Amino acid sequence: MRLEHHDFRSADLVGGDPALDLVNTVTARDTQPRDWLDDYFALLRWARQTECFARADLATLETQAQAAPAKAAAALARCKALREALCDALYALAHGRAPTPPDLDTIDQARLAASKAARLVSRDSRLQTHWSAERSGLDLIAHVITAYAIELLKDARVDRLRVCDGNDCGWVFIDTSKSGRRRWCDMATCGNVAKARRFQQRQRE
Ligand SMILES: [Zn+2]
Repeated sequence: MRLEHHDFRSADLVGGDPALDLVNTVTARDTQPRDWLDDYFALLRWARQTECFARADLATLETQAQAAPAKAAAALARCKALREALCDALYALAHGRAPTPPDLDTIDQARLAASKAARLVSRDSRLQTHWSAERSGLDLIAHVITAYAIELLKDARVDRLRVCDGNDCGWVFIDTSKSGRRRWCDMATCGNVAKARRFQQRQRE
């Protein structure tokens, strides 16, 4: 898959869940896929946009990645293996099929690794599962996103899982529209492009 530098912005996070947004760090899966995670620092920039991570944790990861580039590259590879297994599983589910055993196995291994690093903490008189840069190290982002992915995959929201109809997109999203007939990841980008293309076609005909 071709790597491409990308400056992540909030408009890139349209999946409706951080696990879907991680899958969407590859664009144009339907044509010529481009992987926006060209290095570990790209993963950090993406994580910052999700607002799922404490700034201090991301700063710690940045320092760790600078100090140990090979370890950062290995952690990024693990995160991408999770991302691709998730993608396969989500595409299968969106098309009414069951995820394959190898994909489930990869997700399950990620779940095990994440739960090993997790701690139960008490917050506002409730227990919470908590991950920290201290215990997860460079895998913190993968651990947290795994937790989101497992929650999502167990949830009824999966019934509203869609793959964008747009050309050069292939993003996944949860359709929260009332009608349940949303076709595009984002009306402002893919939806308008598709509409403009149909309009031009009509003009030509
Ligand atoms: Zn799209």
